[in-house]
Amino acid sequence: MTGFARHVPEARGLGMTSQRARDRLVERLAEDGIADRRVLDVIRSLPRHLFVDEALATRAYEDTALPIGQGQTISQPHVVARMTEALIEHGLPKRVLEIGTGSGYQCAVLAALVEKVYTVERIEELLRNARRLFRKLGIANVRSRHDDGRLGWPDDAPFDAIIVTAAGAEVEQALLAQLAPHGTLVAPVGPAGRQTLLRIRAGEDGWVRESLGLVSFVPLLGGVG
Ligand code: SAH
Repeated sequence: MTGFARHVPEARGLGMTSQRARDRLVERLAEDGIADRRVLDVIRSLPRHLFVDEALATRAYEDTALPIGQGQTISQPHVVARMTEALIEHGLPKRVLEIGTGSGYQCAVLAALVEKVYTVERIEELLRNARRLFRKLGIANVRSRHDDGRLGWPDDAPFDAIIVTAAGAEVEQALLAQLAPHGTLVAPVGPAGRQTLLRIRAGEDGWVRESLGLVSFVPLLGGVG
């Protein structure tokens, strides 16, 4: 048993939440095209069942999005894996900004891979739960704040990578402005039912946009909840 479970007995899980369930999820992700061992290894060790409601814990290792309260969802493991892979493919970033902390799962995946993660959430109660989990799991390289993430985190910019986990109509200019010169941004863009996952990097003359396929995210909303 690796990493997180050493500190916390309930992270080990039983039956549907056991290490075997995590291993099976990782096998499935690999079969479905996730190739980066670093990403698969983190997903194998991270107790996703602690990031969902206790009543849904037995479904935590299905490859599906699940409700986390407040009308929000924890992203599907395949999407978390794909976005993480896309973010680190051209070199491991040191400092990453995440917009949409939600359950904290995507943030915890990133925190296991990079030096520091900054995460912003507009719904205070979700942020409180996520912070509690980070403490419990001994995740100490995350800074989080309750704010409208469309504004980014200007005081600590620039970031080597930015990941947005809620869909806006377009990528926020404020976020692109906070990306380091060779940085990578990954974000879902578009209206419900027609969202595309975009990866944006700086090219010789302007931004290079790459489509990584269709996705389904909750909307990026204005203001704080
Ligand atoms: N990364 C999360 C996904 C949560 S769903 C996870 O792994 O669980 C997306 C989250 O984005 C929701 O919690 C929602 O409240 C939040 N969100 C939506 N608009 C936002 C905004 N403008 N600023 C910050 N967070 C936002």
